[in-house]
Amino acid sequence: MRDRVLATIGIGANLGEPQAAVHAAIAAIAALPQTELLRASALYGSAPVDSSGPDYVNAVVQVDTALTAPALLAELQTIEQAAGRERPYRNAPRTLDLDVLLYGDGCISSAALTVPHPRMQQRAFVLLPLAQIAPQLVSESALAAVSDQAIHLIA
Ligand code: ATP
Ligand code: CA
Ligand code: CA
Repeated sequence: MRDRVLATIGIGANLGEPQAAVHAAIAAIAALPQTELLRASALYGSAPVDSSGPDYVNAVVQVDTALTAPALLAELQTIEQAAGRERPYRNAPRTLDLDVLLYGDGCISSAALTVPHPRMQQRAFVLLPLAQIAPQLVSESALAAVSDQAIHLIA
């Protein structure tokens, strides 16, 4: 049997019903084959950073999975498609975005997949929810570096 890996996934949405989309995405991730949802952060609201349009709803989850990293990405892209994701241009507003942030302690650099996610350290909407569920993965200095980005916990 394949080794199981602790993978961390970032979730974002800012079109349609973003809170509902994020909740549905967490449920869809929990239902993935060979995958168990371990932790899900609260939902956070933030103004677009690299993107545009309405405010984002974000969350981060951790799963225990036997899927390879490319297989996990493919499953996440299927969930995005089912949520109506379109990519009219780079950083466009979106109904759902699912990024592989971390895959165990693996470093991956292929055309389709870079892990750790190369921009995660620049994004409060990743680091704050990640710190909520896995504080050992986020240093105080990393949080301080994004403290100028407005983000709030959604009750
Ligand atoms: P960003 O990567 O800056 O968050 P984005 O999420 O808006 O931007 P997408 O249009 O969703 O970018 O994805 C573009 C491509 O990024 C995907 O087709 C995918 O192959 C690739 N990619 C590379 N590394 C990752 C990763 N760690 N997680 C998800 N997609 C990745
Ligand atoms: Ca993204
Ligand atoms: Ca993405």
